[in-house]
Amino acid sequence: MATYLIVGGVAGGAGVAARLRRRDEQAEIIIFERGEHISFANCGLPYYAGGVIEDRSSLFVMTPELFKRVLNVEARVNSEVVSVDRAQKKITVRNVKNDTTYVQAYDHLILSPGATPIRPPIPGIDHPSIMTLRSVGDIDRIKASIDRSETKRAVVIGGGFIGLEMAENLKHRGFDVSLVEALDQVMNVIDYDFAAQVQQHMRSKGVALHLKDPVKGFSEKDGAVLVELESGKVLETDLVILSIGVRPDTAFLKESGIVLSSTGAIVVDDYFTTSDPSIRALGDAICFTCPLTDHSITVPLAGPANKQARLLADALIDGNKRPYKGTIGTSIAKVFDLTVASTGLSEKTLVSSKLPYKSAVTHTSCHADYYPGSLPLSLKILFHPTTGKIWGAQAVGYEGVDKRIDVISAFIGMEGTVYDLAEFEHAYAPPFSSAKDPINMVGFIGMNALEGISNPISWKEVDRFIEQGAVILDPRSETETMAGGMLPGAINIPHTALRKRIAEVPRNRPIVITCAMGVRGYLAERILRGNGFTEVYNLTGGLRSYTTAKSELARLNQ
Ligand code: FAD
Repeated sequence: MATYLIVGGVAGGAGVAARLRRRDEQAEIIIFERGEHISFANCGLPYYAGGVIEDRSSLFVMTPELFKRVLNVEARVNSEVVSVDRAQKKITVRNVKNDTTYVQAYDHLILSPGATPIRPPIPGIDHPSIMTLRSVGDIDRIKASIDRSETKRAVVIGGGFIGLEMAENLKHRGFDVSLVEALDQVMNVIDYDFAAQVQQHMRSKGVALHLKDPVKGFSEKDGAVLVELESGKVLETDLVILSIGVRPDTAFLKESGIVLSSTGAIVVDDYFTTSDPSIRALGDAICFTCPLTDHSITVPLAGPANKQARLLADALIDGNKRPYKGTIGTSIAKVFDLTVASTGLSEKTLVSSKLPYKSAVTHTSCHADYYPGSLPLSLKILFHPTTGKIWGAQAVGYEGVDKRIDVISAFIGMEGTVYDLAEFEHAYAPPFSSAKDPINMVGFIGMNALEGISNPISWKEVDRFIEQGAVILDPRSETETMAGGMLPGAINIPHTALRKRIAEVPRNRPIVITCAMGVRGYLAERILRGNGFTEVYNLTGGLRSYTTAKSELARLNQ
């Protein structure tokens, strides 16, 4: 009978224990969890703080008693593993309630200790009103602070998923919320043009954004916390949620000899085996090779941790038969009325990885425009400029964001190309989509780019073309250009009039076409190409992408 000891009893650890039991009825399986709870819904914590999830007990998916009764797995809570003796195959466990320790022997050790919120050494950071969010204990403290707050002021530091979810939930509780971010945008996993949409939506909901403005220090005044920013701004508040990222919770492994990366992540192979063959690891604490860049990455997400748990348990029982294919970081968040999701690589990662790419953007609708309730949906793909291999995708909208990103994630997993997106067959009726889904549309743009039918350029490239003397052609109607304005120096020839007025288009300079969303620009591009123009570019996503991003950039420089 094998003895499996598992460190960490939430997403990864509980998952391994459950699968192991289903595969091996005789094994001894013991989970050690430092906190008071196992298998709780950490992803639901912000919504409990906001009162959207009302019943605290619904956060607990499993209890130690239930684990024992249903799975015959022993879950020891308040039990922190403080060291690993690989030579003796033993761990030392500290009872956090009475500070006593004992030793437990293993045949196989499984590490799923997760990741801990980063608390940098900023002056004043230890103030009790500055809280991080990871555990049920954390959310109980945060919720108590929300409940007793009279002034209802909060500052959220960090514009990642958890920060944005907390900002929304604090707003939901009637708080004045300021969000502080050191970078020039929220949600660093998506690109600036899409983050700009999220930022505008957050401001429309009353969240004050302080971007590109890191925290310099915290101090206290009359019981309130003063958050001082690099810009010199000072925000007075009673509650600070610090959510600036996580790092692997692996300090207890430092002396173990298990190989860790420079960031403290546990290095594992395709079967989750660490540098010690008797020890495997999973979840937020591990690093592995990104299937798209070949770089070592950590991906602190619940989906991968849960799926890794099943694979890892199977590898323990069956041997190393089914390797882990890695994860491409598919993720999603609700930000007030918007949904924001991404999969695969962003432009930033492509640039830093020196991978060639092109982008295609559509601003369409979640379903047929003529069917009631149609809402805007923006979708962007990044793809290899010659093979069409999809690198990544991002979407922002009100409905149907999840299905578009999930589909593209599946294509990326199968090394799909823009041709696959163009041909993708979807379930269509007007309440659900359009006959040509936004996924097909970005696929068409990508395919046209690959085949030289069209040359889409991104909002970032337009200014460079203008500096180099390109002609800016705006193919919208006169009424539209008069109402919305054009780029400086642009000439307006509506695409419907372009054939007749083709002589007005200079032939000796590159031409960049800028319409509202990129569709009429494409039509105009085809007319020009059909009339012998060769150096023609169409702004993908149109002025909608350009002006959204540019107006956010302008705010930064105010
Ligand atoms: P965890 O689930 O964190 O479990 C690790 C456990 O190990 C912890 O309970 C810890 O106490 C315990 N532990 C650590 N060290 C020791 C030790 N030495 N001895 C004993 N026990 C130890 N992901 C998504 O994909 N979608 C979301 O919407 C989402 N929302 C989130 C919201 C919040 C507020 C948080 C905190 C996370 C969210 N995540 C989300 C991330 C997701 O929860 C994690 O990716 C996932 O839980 C990782 O699983 P894990 O097993 O690696 O770590």
